[in-house]
Amino acid sequence: MKWRWRLLNSEEVGLWKEVLVAKYGVHILNSAVWSTRLNSHLTSLWWKDICDLENCVESKNWVAEMFSRSIGNGASTCFWSDLWIGDSLLYVKFPRLFSLSLQKEAKVRELVSVEGGKYNWNFIWRRRLFIWEEENVAQLVTFLANVRLSMAEDKWRWVVDAEGSFSVKSAYDVFFKEIVIGTNLPFFEANIFSNIWESPAPSKVVAFSWQLLHDRVPTKENLRLRGVLPRNSDGFCVGCGVICESTFHLFLHCKVALVVWYENFKWLGVVIVIPANLFVLFDCLSEAAKSKKSRKGFRLVWHSVIWSIWRARNNHIFKNVASDPLEIVEAAKVLSWRWSADRMHISPCLFYEWVWDPNICFNN
Ligand SMILES: [Zn+2]
Repeated sequence: MKWRWRLLNSEEVGLWKEVLVAKYGVHILNSAVWSTRLNSHLTSLWWKDICDLENCVESKNWVAEMFSRSIGNGASTCFWSDLWIGDSLLYVKFPRLFSLSLQKEAKVRELVSVEGGKYNWNFIWRRRLFIWEEENVAQLVTFLANVRLSMAEDKWRWVVDAEGSFSVKSAYDVFFKEIVIGTNLPFFEANIFSNIWESPAPSKVVAFSWQLLHDRVPTKENLRLRGVLPRNSDGFCVGCGVICESTFHLFLHCKVALVVWYENFKWLGVVIVIPANLFVLFDCLSEAAKSKKSRKGFRLVWHSVIWSIWRARNNHIFKNVASDPLEIVEAAKVLSWRWSADRMHISPCLFYEWVWDPNICFNN
C-alpha cells in the first residue's frame, strides 16, 4: 500500500517511477483502481503483490476506498471511479446510471459547466431514460449540489488520516480489521493470532509462526499437496525417518520436537503436556507465566523453539547436517536470549532471572 501511495503522490518523483510507468502504463500514477490486465508471466512477484492488493479483502475494493480525491479543478479526478464525494464511489452508489453512462471514464471537470456561478451537470446516456431512472439522476444532481471547483490541482488523500497523509501503521490497522472480520476465525484462534505479533522476535520469525498457524509452511506434506514434490515421494520426516512430515508432526509430535519442547518447559519451570495443536500450546505457555514480563518471555520461547526446529530441519535436508535434539534446545534458548537483549533493550540477566542457568554457554 505504501508503494501505491508513493506512485499516486505526484510530489514524489524518481527514476523508479519512470521505469514502472514504462513497463506498466501511466494509469499507475493516476488511478487508485487498476484493471487487472496483467501479463502475469512478465511481472515480478513484488509487482504481482502490489496488483493483488485489490483482491485481498473479500467482496470490496478496499484500495479504491482508502484513497480519496481532494477536489480542486476536477481535471484529473474520475467522476465515476474515484472516491471524491461522499464515502463511496459513484459507480457503486448509482450503479444503474453508471451502466447507462457514455462517459464512464470522464473527469469531473468534463461533466460540469459553470454559468454565472451555477453548476450544470451534463450527462450523456446511451438511451432515453425511464421515469424512475430520471428520478435517480435527480438524486445524483442533489447529491452533487455542494460541489465547488477551484483553481487548485486535485490531490490524493489517504482517507483514514485527518491530514490525508499515508502511514503504514494506519494501513495495517485498517487491513487488520478487514481481514479479522473477513476471515471469521473462531475467537480462540483469532485471539492467538492477535497475540503472536507483539514479540521481540524478528518480524520474519513471527511471520513464519503466523504462516505455520495457518498451516502454510512448506513441509513435505504441504509440498506434496501443492504438487511441488511428486505424489509418490516418501515425504518422511528427517527427525525420525518414519512418519510423514506434516506440520503437526514436525513441530509437535515428532520425537525430536517432543524432546525440544519438554526440555524447554523444564528450563522455564512449567509442567505442560504437549497439546493437540500449536494454538493451544501458545495459550498454555501464556497461562503458565506468573507475570506479564515472563508471559512475554514464554511467548518468545514459543517463537524461538518453532524457528529452531525449522532451521534444524532445513539444515538436515539442505546441508546434510543433523542436529541432536539437545542442540536444538540450546539454539532456541540462545535465540530467545539474543532477541530479548536486542529488542527489549533490557539487561538479559534481568529478563532471564527466572531461567538463569550459568551452565548455558551463550557463545555456542
Ligand atoms: Zn519425525
